[in-house]
Amino acid sequence: KSLAMAGTEPEDDTDELAEEIDAKVMLQMELQDQRKTLPVYKFKDELLKAIADHQIIIVVGETGSGKTTQIPQYLHEAGYTANGRKIACTQPRRVAAMSVAARVAQEMGVKLGHEVGYSIRFEDCTSEKTVVKYMTDGMLLREFLGEPDLGSYGVVIVDEAHERSISTDILLGLVKDVARFRPDLKLLISSATLNADKFSDFFDMAPVFKIPGRRYKVDIHYTVAPEADYVDAAVATVLQLHVTQPSGDILLFLTGQEEIETVEEILRRRTRGLGTKIAELVICPIYANLPTELQAKIFEPAPPGARKVVLATNIAETSLTIDGISYVVDPGFCKVKSYSPRTGTESLLVQPISKASADQRAGRSGRTGPGKCFRLFTEHSYNKDMEDETVPEIQRSNLASVVLSLKALGINDLVSFDFMDPPASEGLLRALEDLFALGALNSRGELTKTGRRMAELPLDPMLAKAIVASERYGCSEELLTVASMLSAGNAVFYRPKDRALVADAARQRFNAGGNAGDHVALLNVYTEWEQSGHSAQWCLDHFVQSRTMRRARDVREQLEALMERVEIERRSCAGDLDTVRKAITAGFFRNTAQRRRDGFYRTLKSWRTVFVHPSSGMARVVPPPRWVVYHELVETTKEYMRQVTELKPEWLLEIAPHYYQESNLNKPEPKKAKAHVQGAAVAAEKPSLSLKDFFNV
Ligand code: ADP
Ligand code: MG
Repeated sequence: KSLAMAGTEPEDDTDELAEEIDAKVMLQMELQDQRKTLPVYKFKDELLKAIADHQIIIVVGETGSGKTTQIPQYLHEAGYTANGRKIACTQPRRVAAMSVAARVAQEMGVKLGHEVGYSIRFEDCTSEKTVVKYMTDGMLLREFLGEPDLGSYGVVIVDEAHERSISTDILLGLVKDVARFRPDLKLLISSATLNADKFSDFFDMAPVFKIPGRRYKVDIHYTVAPEADYVDAAVATVLQLHVTQPSGDILLFLTGQEEIETVEEILRRRTRGLGTKIAELVICPIYANLPTELQAKIFEPAPPGARKVVLATNIAETSLTIDGISYVVDPGFCKVKSYSPRTGTESLLVQPISKASADQRAGRSGRTGPGKCFRLFTEHSYNKDMEDETVPEIQRSNLASVVLSLKALGINDLVSFDFMDPPASEGLLRALEDLFALGALNSRGELTKTGRRMAELPLDPMLAKAIVASERYGCSEELLTVASMLSAGNAVFYRPKDRALVADAARQRFNAGGNAGDHVALLNVYTEWEQSGHSAQWCLDHFVQSRTMRRARDVREQLEALMERVEIERRSCAGDLDTVRKAITAGFFRNTAQRRRDGFYRTLKSWRTVFVHPSSGMARVVPPPRWVVYHELVETTKEYMRQVTELKPEWLLEIAPHYYQESNLNKPEPKKAKAHVQGAAVAAEKPSLSLKDFFNV
């Protein structure tokens, strides 16, 4: 585009067209030149030969060496797609899948979604023509359900394997098996770190192909004392770098969207006051839910004289490589999923990163020249406190969803599944219990019809169960909407500071009837938006994020098709909202809490003290309902229930009699307000099921 603009004023349309074509040709040439500068390019022939000679290869190469963008193209050019089979390249992160696919489409000079496409949950940007398919690891896992031999693929690349996401770990086990009975399938496992031996061992000593990366020297600086507030420290460091250091872009690692937005705002405010002598600072955020239009921005070079600062989550650690970074600011934290099989709760926690992560992050500054990394933690903490490696996700997650998928794939004996690092049997047991309680498995641990339907829905098993159950309550239309809204993200409403009261009032209106609950409020929002003809103005008027609504509509369309596939009859409850709440309860009966006389909510089974999230419409209901069911717990300063709906206790006995007895509902009131006794919580939690002949551990 900039090339087209640089030309002289066009005299007429033909000139303009010619210029546009010229610019396109130029851009293509430039891209092809760039491709040749990547470290992997020199190894192209050798790599292709290795792939021809071996069925399975482990590819190791420094981040940015061109593994993800180039290898699928080499394979395509070398004819691996000529037989009508596709190349799959999996990514643990959706943004990476989208962004890389966009780049490769550009390099190949094709429209995204044609020869090159991507597939992520709720979004399929591929077509009949697609031969190079980037996808999340979770999506390939889902494809196994419909095509257990992956017959439509000639090559599968499990990329970013070092990330060890749950889906990647499961995929590794599955593709290893497929490779045995499909000698024509080529398998590449690619990783950015050097522990390739572990992958090689797992794949029966598969050869390791190393792509030596270029890496310039990186100066590492530590803080002298621990930082009290790493966000403040990060902002200060970025500003200081900007004002004092020679040109070169800055990459700052933060833990999530909210933090990134906060820092973005502070940086904007603070740079406004810097005056004209200081160069412009272009701020580019990148996180999982960033709208597609803005994702490309992080790759655009800053205008001459300006400096770019990229505010990124872990995604920029290895998944995405941004050229031109000379300075990395690393507070040393990331958000990780952690799960307690004991209490059955999963939460996202901000935790210190591992040494391996810290080193990866630092390396991001030394790709195109010597770099500097500013660690906002002490050297002592690096040496003494940080773990060497991040624990694989499979060992710290709720496994219900994975176990359900495996069961749906006919893998009954989970214990002998070929895990690279097996999850704790406690976690597996818990997952089986949960699925049994949801009716997805029978007492022999086999998938039920309900379970089979649930497995087809790309949702958490609890939400999938709520949808399957909605058929029985005659409210599948409503549940479809609620599930889509829940899956579209947490940012449904917005609350500008200067109009907070108006926004709150607008929001409260969706809670018509006072204590209808957040789920019904979400339903109301969607229904009204639809009635408005999906109007953006309506969103503005009601303080609703239209981006979230559009996403909800996309999700709804996808879920609609899946519901059809599993033959869930579409019915509306025509305003009988108790049916909706019952269906929610049928999925989320484990997530229930009771308000005790001391005013605190306790979860029914584990007896933990929990609070209604301030963003919930239920936070303002007086008096607060006695019994509630919630979507999830989020842990910040306290444990908060998010998306809360009132519930009638007798429903629990009706809907989940195998899980709740009268005694669960009639616990004695605590004597004093300070009854947060954790010990009691654990004792009360023993599952009421007999699991003896449930499965053989
Ligand atoms: P690796 O997978 O080995 O880490 P990649 O293939 O992702 O390396 O990156 C190779 C090059 O392509 C890098 O210089 C990177 O900046 C560039 N690149 C990747 N994606 C994009 C994109 N969406 N836009 C612009 N450049 C990109
Ligand atoms: Mg990559």
